[in-house]
Amino acid sequence: MLIVMDHAATPAQVEAVMEQVRACGFRPVPMPGAERTAVCVLGNTGPVNPAPFENLPGVKECIRVTKPYKLVSRETQPQDTVLTVAGVSVGGQAPPVLIAGPCSVESRDQMLRTVEYLVSRGVKLIRGGVFKPRTSPYAFQGLGEEGLKILEEIKQQFPVGVVTEALDHENFNAVEPVADMIQIGARNMQNFSLLRRAGQSRKPILLKRGLAATLEELLMAAEYILAGGNRQVVLCERGVRTFADHTRNTLDLSAVVVVQQLSHLPVLVDPSHAAGKWPYVIPLALAGVAAGAHGLLVEVHPDPPRALSDGPQSLTFEKFAELQEKVQRLTAAGLRG
Ligand code: PEP
Ligand code: MN
Repeated sequence: MLIVMDHAATPAQVEAVMEQVRACGFRPVPMPGAERTAVCVLGNTGPVNPAPFENLPGVKECIRVTKPYKLVSRETQPQDTVLTVAGVSVGGQAPPVLIAGPCSVESRDQMLRTVEYLVSRGVKLIRGGVFKPRTSPYAFQGLGEEGLKILEEIKQQFPVGVVTEALDHENFNAVEPVADMIQIGARNMQNFSLLRRAGQSRKPILLKRGLAATLEELLMAAEYILAGGNRQVVLCERGVRTFADHTRNTLDLSAVVVVQQLSHLPVLVDPSHAAGKWPYVIPLALAGVAAGAHGLLVEVHPDPPRALSDGPQSLTFEKFAELQEKVQRLTAAGLRG
C-alpha cells in the first residue's frame, strides 16, 4: 500500500505515519516526490487494511499497490527516475546515453586505444568486463584485479566513468570502489544474494534481464535492490532466448515499451548481446531508441576478429561512429519513442 501525504504535511506527520506502519508490523519506506511525500508499506503478504492510517493527520489517501513489486512500480512513483552516473543523466527526458567499450578488458593497450577513440567521439561512459561470465570454463575469464587497475588508470587519464560486471560478492567488493556503475549480468539476474549485496551499495546498478526472464521477474529482481536501500537501478533489455536462432538472442523491443508503463526505472537496450553478429547491431540499436530506450550498451573493439570475447558482435570504431551519428539523427528528429 502507498500512503500519500498531503502536500502540506509536516515531517512530524510523516514520521507519525511511519511509526504507525511499524506498529502494524510492516516496514515504512518514505518516497519523497516533487509535489508530495508518500510512505510505501513493505512486508505485507496480502492487502493492507488502510483503516489505521487514513485518518492520521496529513494523510491524503491510501492507495493499494496491485503489483507484487512495490518500490520499482509506477503506482508508487509516477515520475521517471533520473540517475546521474559519473556526471551523465540517465532516464526520463535525458538524451539517450551511450555506454560503449569492449566486452572484456584485455590489455592496457586495447583499453587505451578504445577509450581514446570513444572519448574523441564524446562518449562519457565506458564498459569493459574484468570478471567475465563465460559458458566454457576454458574460455577467457577476464583479467580480474589486473583489469581493475587498467580501469582505474583509464579513469585517471580520461574524463569518463566505467561500467563493469560483478559475478559474486567477492568481485562486488573489488569492483565497487572503482566502478561508476556495477553490472549484474543476465546469468545473475536472479542471484538473490548478489542482488541483496547490490542493495547495500551506493553505486548505480545496471541490471540485465535474465536469459528467459519475464518482466515481472526482472522487476522483482530490481525490487530486491531498491528494498535493500539502493534506488539507483537501470534496467537493460539484452534479448531473451526463443526458438529463433537467426540471432544470438531475440531482442524484445516490446519489453522496452511495457517496462516503462510498469516502472519508473530507466531502461537501456544492449543490441550487441541480442544480435550476436555485428551487422545487426546498428539497426537493432536504432530500433531500441525508437522504442523509447533511455540509452544503449554497445560492444566496441579496436580489432574485433582478435577479441578474446564477443568479437563477432563487436563494432569497429568506424561502425560505432556510424551508430552514434544515426542515434543522434533519430533523437534530433524527435523520434525517440
Ligand atoms: C556482457 O555485458 O558482456 C554480458 C556478459 O552480458 P549478458 O549478461 O547480457 O550476457
Ligand atoms: Mn559481451
